[in-house]
Amino acid sequence: PGTRLPNVGTTIFTVMSALAAEKNAVNLGQGFPDFHCDPALTEAVTAAMQAGHNQYPPMPGIAALRNAIASKIEALYGRSYDPNAEITVTAGATQAIITAILALVRPGDEVIVLEPCYDSYVPNIELAGGTVVRVPLVPGSFRPDFDRIAAALTRRTRAILINTPHNPSATVWTAEEMRQLEALLAPTDVFVISDEVYEHMVFDGAAHQSAARFPSLAARSILVSSFGKTYHVTGWKVGYVAAPAALMAEFRKVHQFNVFTVNTPMQHALASYMANPAPYLELPAFYQRKRDLFAQGLARTRFKLLRSEGTYFQCVDISAVSDLNEADFCQWLTREVGVAAIPLSAFYGNGFDQRVVRFCFAKKDQTLLSALERLARL
Ligand code: PMP
Ligand code: GLN
Repeated sequence: PGTRLPNVGTTIFTVMSALAAEKNAVNLGQGFPDFHCDPALTEAVTAAMQAGHNQYPPMPGIAALRNAIASKIEALYGRSYDPNAEITVTAGATQAIITAILALVRPGDEVIVLEPCYDSYVPNIELAGGTVVRVPLVPGSFRPDFDRIAAALTRRTRAILINTPHNPSATVWTAEEMRQLEALLAPTDVFVISDEVYEHMVFDGAAHQSAARFPSLAARSILVSSFGKTYHVTGWKVGYVAAPAALMAEFRKVHQFNVFTVNTPMQHALASYMANPAPYLELPAFYQRKRDLFAQGLARTRFKLLRSEGTYFQCVDISAVSDLNEADFCQWLTREVGVAAIPLSAFYGNGFDQRVVRFCFAKKDQTLLSALERLARL
């Protein structure tokens, strides 16, 4: 048969997690916590199931959860979204992103991605029949380059995907950068898909600059977030989108035929759990401590650390440790040293190799320490 996605194999996260399991390596590759979520959350799921919340929820998500999401966004970012018309619960951010792209992108439309970018964006655009326009982030610093973004805008540009805090580089956009994007797009009809799944993981006292904070950006944006990251439940696959009503109407046309609805008991559990803001307000300190613990250990190796401003990732330059390319290094590290990592080249269309790999520090201290013990031998 012909293939819709000629350049796609199995995702790097699946490949590296399988190899880590096979080799009994410490898995700092795929991004997910190895510790439990708050027991109050799992108890709330059981309670919801026992209370009979086991049938289809309303198509956009249960009202209690949409209300809680709207309240959180308003409290943190100062924009009010109508929970009935402007918030939809999704099966994780992955479904939110492909649904947003299928809803907006018509065959032949151009969509700008900033490389390196999360691995689902490009295949999603291709499935929609769109043309991918790749604009590199500034090499080394991974900051947005607005001259290059401006140069990539054409009359056919339909949308731009942005992601802050950024996977894989762990950079966080500043308010000034968001304002620059806002100004650049002001004279255009370009939509923004703003992937904010790491919104609650921003370090060193900085604030997450949601697109919701910038009125003319918010008016053209579909915001995407995920409970998986925030509440340590990546396997639940529950996330959400927020967008102005007209955009959300288009999103829901696709959503209803894509998943229709998202599992009911988890929605009830999340709605009640969200009443307390402490878990997400405490998340920056929780992950900053893990970042620092991991970085202190890495400082005793020959890896050169890049700045981790947010997310739960730490990137390192491997050039003083090995002559291998990133992908071979990650294979070697998993097989021979017993620690799995992700090559940054997996986030580029042309496999660009800058000798940088990504570790995930969303792990028990004990897991990080045993990885560090192995890495110290390098
Ligand atoms: N976007 C980014 C930048 C991510 O890192 C991830 C998770 N790896 C996703 C989207 C997908 O999130 P979810 O697991 O909720 O589908
Ligand atoms: N987003 C996670 C990461 O970047 C992985 C999710 C996945 O496996 N698709 O590691």
